[in-house]
Amino acid sequence: MDYYGIGFSNIRLPNDSESYVYKYNVLINQFPEEVFLHEFLHTLERNSAEYGYERPELHDYEKYGYENEPIIGQKRWYTDYMNKNIKTNSENIGLPSEIYTLKPAKTSNFETSYKVEAFKEPENIIEEIRQIIDNLIDKVKLL
Ligand SMILES: [Zn+2]
Repeated sequence: MDYYGIGFSNIRLPNDSESYVYKYNVLINQFPEEVFLHEFLHTLERNSAEYGYERPELHDYEKYGYENEPIIGQKRWYTDYMNKNIKTNSENIGLPSEIYTLKPAKTSNFETSYKVEAFKEPENIIEEIRQIIDNLIDKVKLL
């Protein structure tokens, strides 16, 4: 998803541990990571365009004869998209292999980044106690 032209992917999960999205069910979805892959591929799609590479639109799977299949979703499309293996009359198309070795083309992509605190380990006894209390509070909220 594009957010006011700055390139923004957002995956929102419900804040509810009882939600089906947290449960793996082979009858519903054998490819649950699809949503993460899809948003990541939008990033590579955008980077490819900014570096000037030709590549198909990520949403154009039907245009190239792919389907949103039961259980596996668009797995075949994503696989061929990533491996530049989409057949056309002239050549195979998809993401350029170079894109996996390149940073985002524009330095402005890094200007608003900030350090995520969620995985920060405590560095002293006060932070450690604070983390224990925070974890207890989170557990009580779940009860
Ligand atoms: Zn999309």
